[in-house]
Amino acid sequence: MKTKIAVANGDGIGPEIMDAVLNIFKAANVQLEYDFVEMGKSYFDAGHSTGMTEQAKATIENLGILFKGPMETPKGKGVKSINVTARKVWNTYANQRDFRTLNGVDTVFSKAGMDINLTIIRENIEDTYGGIEHMLTNDVAVGRRIITRPGSAQVIRYAFEMAKRKGLKKLACGHKANIMKLTDGMFLEIFYQIAKEYPQIEVSDIIVDDLCMKLVSRPEMFEAIVLTNLQGDIVSDLCAGLVGGLGFAPSANIGDNISIFEAVHGTAPDIAGRGIANPTALLLSGISMLRFLGLTENAATIENSLLYTLEQGVHTGDFGDRSTQSVNTQGFADAIIANL
Ligand code: NAD
Repeated sequence: MKTKIAVANGDGIGPEIMDAVLNIFKAANVQLEYDFVEMGKSYFDAGHSTGMTEQAKATIENLGILFKGPMETPKGKGVKSINVTARKVWNTYANQRDFRTLNGVDTVFSKAGMDINLTIIRENIEDTYGGIEHMLTNDVAVGRRIITRPGSAQVIRYAFEMAKRKGLKKLACGHKANIMKLTDGMFLEIFYQIAKEYPQIEVSDIIVDDLCMKLVSRPEMFEAIVLTNLQGDIVSDLCAGLVGGLGFAPSANIGDNISIFEAVHGTAPDIAGRGIANPTALLLSGISMLRFLGLTENAATIENSLLYTLEQGVHTGDFGDRSTQSVNTQGFADAIIANL
């Protein structure tokens, strides 16, 4: 029987890149069924405060997996991001982002012959992302940062389990416990407590500013890093830059009951509707979703084809050799399909 997953096309370039990725899945004979759900900016505008219909919510909760395109955050005071709301509603507490050098995607590191291969695990729900802020006086704004013991423990445990599953040797904890002694201090304390259960994994911790410096100067020092939400958000975009930019950054939001797979980038309003967006980040997210679902052969076939296509120098307008003609979104998907 085919596994069924929920799919939300998203806004802006979302439908274009989702279409390209699902075409690749179809050509690779991926045995999945899709239930397309009503979710995104237009549903928010139509009065659904979470950005999705009740039916979409029920379908996602029933199927447990959501493959989603990027969604526009409605502008305005008091309005919450649909993406952040979805992560909260379903307690997808661990955000995993895998970054690696891809042949055909030039970066300062690839040009220097250095390969990057690292994973960031970011706590996905707590920290300053509750948006609990108020004006104390006209001139003083106050925001709350909330870090809890169970919230920290579940993401740190996920990071150790992920490292074990992938056969990694090292896991680091990024933090600012020297300044935020209670919040980051507790996160770090829990990291070392849980580390005792995984003696085969070499652990270390590093202050987040030093971490940023080391990531751009000696990225090979790290295999995987776990961080709190805001610091993890910033550090993971830094890592996207190390491997060629947001067009190559996949992401998985993992929870106990529901997991969401999406690209790190947004709706790219500046190029939306032109069919020129790079579908690689969504495709890489889709590949990790296939692995998560146990469709490992499909995942390997599509990944090899993507890598070969990139090596051939096929590229959309946002990367690659500027002296060669770029292809559009579907052209890029067609090249991957031809290499399957
Ligand atoms: P963005 O990631 O959409 O775009 C930043 C830049 O990167 C733009 O120049 C864009 O053209 C380029 N870009 C992004 N993805 C690309 C791709 N696949 N191919 C080629 N170029 C690409 O960031 P933004 O402009 O700050 O945000 C736009 C909207 O997206 C906002 O409403 C924001 O809230 C939303 N957003 C959603 C998500 C999500 O759904 N997870 C994530 C980030 C931002």
